[in-house]
Amino acid sequence: MSGPIDRPVGDATRVVLAGRRKEWTGGVVNPPVWRGSTILYDSVAEMRERVSDTHHKFFYGRRGLPTQWSLADALNELEPGAEGTFLYCSGVAAIAAAFLAVLSAGDELLLPDTSYDPTRALATGLLKRLGITARFYDPLIGAGIAELIGPATRAILMESPGSLTFEVQDVPAIVAAAKARGVVTLLDNTWATPLLFPAIGLGVDLTILACTKYIVGHSDAMLGSVTAGPGFFARLRDTSFQLGQVASPDDCYLGSRGLRTMAVRLKQHEASALRIARWLAEQPQVAAVFHPALPDCPGHDTFLRDFRGSSGLFSFALNGGSDAGRVALIDGLALFGIGYSWGGFESLAVPIDPQRHRSVTRRDDAGPLVRLQIGLEDPDDLIADLAAGLARFETARA
Ligand SMILES: *Cc1c(COP(=O)(O)O)cnc(C)c1O
Repeated sequence: MSGPIDRPVGDATRVVLAGRRKEWTGGVVNPPVWRGSTILYDSVAEMRERVSDTHHKFFYGRRGLPTQWSLADALNELEPGAEGTFLYCSGVAAIAAAFLAVLSAGDELLLPDTSYDPTRALATGLLKRLGITARFYDPLIGAGIAELIGPATRAILMESPGSLTFEVQDVPAIVAAAKARGVVTLLDNTWATPLLFPAIGLGVDLTILACTKYIVGHSDAMLGSVTAGPGFFARLRDTSFQLGQVASPDDCYLGSRGLRTMAVRLKQHEASALRIARWLAEQPQVAAVFHPALPDCPGHDTFLRDFRGSSGLFSFALNGGSDAGRVALIDGLALFGIGYSWGGFESLAVPIDPQRHRSVTRRDDAGPLVRLQIGLEDPDDLIADLAAGLARFETARA
């Protein structure tokens, strides 16, 4: 990198360049691990001067070091118009910090009924204890959210597509309704990442990533981020500092390393997942496939309008059958691991029971549901594995 780039660049170029300041990387290519708590100053005068401006400056380990600053800056660069990004030790920690940055006792928070279950637990647990009310809404409500906004409504969370069942939300309509009433908007953008859905540019105030998923990309570290849109940087910073949030430099290094390949990984996740989702949709044992890029998925038209592509996580409903048949399908898979999380290079399959995690919407599925994370293996191998799984399901159903 001998000179500045003077023209717009594509996603793969952006993730390669982002956050790599020479003063942070030194002579090496990717930002190395900077460990440290105490920072030594040359003089008391320098120490005093540093206290007044502590964003991305050597101050004390809890405020981060170049490994963290570089990743935070890189994520921020992926969201044109963003004011700043903070990192957390997990995606859930990021969600908690974002909530605490904007909510106070007496406030009401609106959340989609398809919220990630730990988000729901946070809203109905800690937030409730602090005097904040959680109210769940139909993720497909769109502009109708205006009718739910009351005098105490302070913030609206969106998660699009929704956890487990992938309902695509009308983010621009919800943002417009919120802005008209001075309500803060937050988006859990983990599925799409800023590459497929640049949320800050669409007017979202705070956008959250479980970096554990596609940023890290290798299932070997936990990490979260919150990016602040115009007007939200100061309170996000103050809240994060007061909470003592700092992500480990080793994990941030892994996040930074993962980020460099994220654009090419996402393309492969997208192509393989789409192929497998379309194949599943044709199988007689499958009743419906919930993938935002497929017409069975609620909010599919919104997806086509707003997203620049899809990623590798989706679910499907089996045609009849029982949990035992579903278990037979999953247990015998050779290439799909059985485990939580997603976004890594390896494929995963888990049984999901979305109705258990909902309070205001009802599902009417033809059979049990399975969620798949499609990894970077050859899709033909994954299809063969799933075909054998569907045959086991069929045998169990008969
Ligand atoms: C995994 C996940 C999170 C939480 O991230 P962790 O790093 O596991 O805490 C948040 N939101 C969504 C949509 C997720 O899938």
